[in-house]
Amino acid sequence: MIPYRTEYLSADPAGLAQAADLLRQGQLVAFPTETVYGLGGDALNGEAVAAIYAAKGRPSFNPLIAHVASVEAAQRFVEWSDQAARLAAAFWPGPLTLVLPLRDGHGVSSLVTAGLDTLAVRVPAHPTARALLQAVDRPVAAPSANPSGRISPTTADHVRAGLDGRIAAVLDDGPCGVGLESTIVGLAGEPTLLRPGGIALDQIEQVLGTQLHIHQSGDLLTAPGQLQSHYAPEAPVRLNAHTRQGEEILLGFGPVDCDVNLSADGNLTEAAANLFATLHKLDRSGRPIAVTPIPSDGLGAAINDRLRRAAAPRG
Ligand code: AMP
Ligand code: MG
Repeated sequence: MIPYRTEYLSADPAGLAQAADLLRQGQLVAFPTETVYGLGGDALNGEAVAAIYAAKGRPSFNPLIAHVASVEAAQRFVEWSDQAARLAAAFWPGPLTLVLPLRDGHGVSSLVTAGLDTLAVRVPAHPTARALLQAVDRPVAAPSANPSGRISPTTADHVRAGLDGRIAAVLDDGPCGVGLESTIVGLAGEPTLLRPGGIALDQIEQVLGTQLHIHQSGDLLTAPGQLQSHYAPEAPVRLNAHTRQGEEILLGFGPVDCDVNLSADGNLTEAAANLFATLHKLDRSGRPIAVTPIPSDGLGAAINDRLRRAAAPRG
């Protein structure tokens, strides 16, 4: 990846404007939230989201939280509901993330949702985060701004220690952090606590007037009609293929003869950006999927991780 000269911007109007411009250009900007510094990228731009994974060195794709400036901004991308309205009125801006069905024509990169048809959205309370999101006027995908496997950053110096030279800018507004991640509530089906965090369960139940289901990690993968935490195609998937066998449709990478190519130029960022949308498209063909070899350096590790899961036998 191309090394950056990371800019350290102060949280004044000029710094905010520059950070917003960089995000709109598809660059990565770390910014403070009330939980930790987040590593932001334009959620509508698949290559920007792929670059988040590359900068963090994350070896697998998980859905990311889209940060927005307001309820109105969230409503542009997800199916709003009475329950969402009640929780947002009580806890936004703040450390509560809502998982809701994507709206038609949402435009959010499928790398943000890791191929799911739901989106996790949150309006952060940190004034600098809100001002930035207002200026960007797009949803910003933002996991914590640390290299994979390292602890979450609560100062610009922590971000510098992990990501200097790997991202375009850091918007420095001093220390942040309540220490707790956002609470994640799934509202695409039965209201479900997907992750405990900064807003307590009983507060949420009080506002909803009902008990939340508790998500046990791993147990919803195959249960029909329930919130899935990971997308996998229905069709069988065969890896490291060089030719088609039988009815297979061949998914390629780089200069190979195939039916659909993740990146004819052999660009892993482009391939990552295309991955989930392409799997959905191939799955709709109803044919088994064969995939040509993909290198496992950089973003290739996360791409291969996801393809291996898709290829694993399912019960
Ligand atoms: P964070 O690590 O704070 O960026 O939060 C990301 C968390 O949100 C991960 O645990 C994801 O699995 C969860 N998440 C994001 N989007 C979804 C979604 N559409 N459905 C279920 N969980 C989600
Ligand atoms: Mg993290």
